[in-house]
Amino acid sequence: MTIPADGSPAEFAYMDGNALAGPLSEVFTVDVTSATSRCVHCGRTGPVAGLRVYAHAPGLVARCEGCDEVVLRMVRGAETLWLDMRGTVALAFPVDGG
Ligand SMILES: [Zn+2]
Repeated sequence: MTIPADGSPAEFAYMDGNALAGPLSEVFTVDVTSATSRCVHCGRTGPVAGLRVYAHAPGLVARCEGCDEVVLRMVRGAETLWLDMRGTVALAFPVDGG
């Protein structure tokens, strides 16, 4: 867990995008953290593993490392899992060259 160096309160602490690997494995058969995402808000392209993941909200909120806007939200209830990806233009996954 990373706590901002500016002395912000602990609720601003976050994990890197690798924290999404386990929860997203319920939805995707590939490791989403290996993908590259593009932020809707600022256009920044970078690895999903580089997103800032906050677990203080209901579920997980992943924010862009460049502009701090929300890229992905995931909430898991008893019978339903919601995945909100409206902050992502696209995900690009590495594949074998075959
Ligand atoms: Zn951004």
